[in-house]
Amino acid sequence: MSGAVSTGLLVQWLRAFRDAVHAHKDELTRLDSEIGDADHGSNMARGLDAVVAKLDPVPATPADLFKTVGMTLVSSVGGASGPLYGTLFLRMGPALGTEGEVDAAALGAALRAGVDGVIARGKAQLGDKTMIDALSPALDAWDAAAGDGAVAASRAAADAAARGRDATEPLVARKGRASYLGERSAGHLDPGAASATLLLEALRDTLAAAE
Ligand code: ADP
Ligand code: MG
Repeated sequence: MSGAVSTGLLVQWLRAFRDAVHAHKDELTRLDSEIGDADHGSNMARGLDAVVAKLDPVPATPADLFKTVGMTLVSSVGGASGPLYGTLFLRMGPALGTEGEVDAAALGAALRAGVDGVIARGKAQLGDKTMIDALSPALDAWDAAAGDGAVAASRAAADAAARGRDATEPLVARKGRASYLGERSAGHLDPGAASATLLLEALRDTLAAAE
């Protein structure tokens, strides 16, 4: 891969994320049954099916793509995760301008804008046992590796997301439905951190396959 990431490749990423969510749907729902209301797998699967239905024809630019993805997630997913994932993508678009391709630094900056939007909306901090525990370390790892290109950055980000997801297990939830359980939320992985890791792993796999 030349280093530039096209809109078409980003569409492949979102298709791969949809496929990964379907493959892990029961697992995401099981995690949510332990500390929530057992709908995270079905919420995400429904939302991403609606997203994929909007990706043909391929949007003109990455910014257009992410706007469509964000609006679709906000309108098709109930629960906390729809507005939060929707915000992630809605904030990515404006960070990208009107270019038809993005490089590792631009994609990292867009992801950063997206995650900042999720934090502004959900008020979760690192360690609150949410998707932020996977996303924030992933972005730090992305930035540190972005000089080596998008494939290297996505690999580092996916690894960091998985570590962040695993680190949610002992935590007591301080945001979202799981926080109602108090201390009883400890001892389980956070479902949103698990789906966010799938998002980064799908990006890694898509970029690596195009290399
Ligand atoms: P709901 O909790 O409404 O049933 P989901 O089950 O689809 O929605 O999503 C739950 C996930 O959403 C949690 O595992 C957590 O990662 C994420 N989440 C919940 N509240 C917040 C928040 N305030 N900030 C960030 N992420 C959150
Ligand atoms: Mg739920």
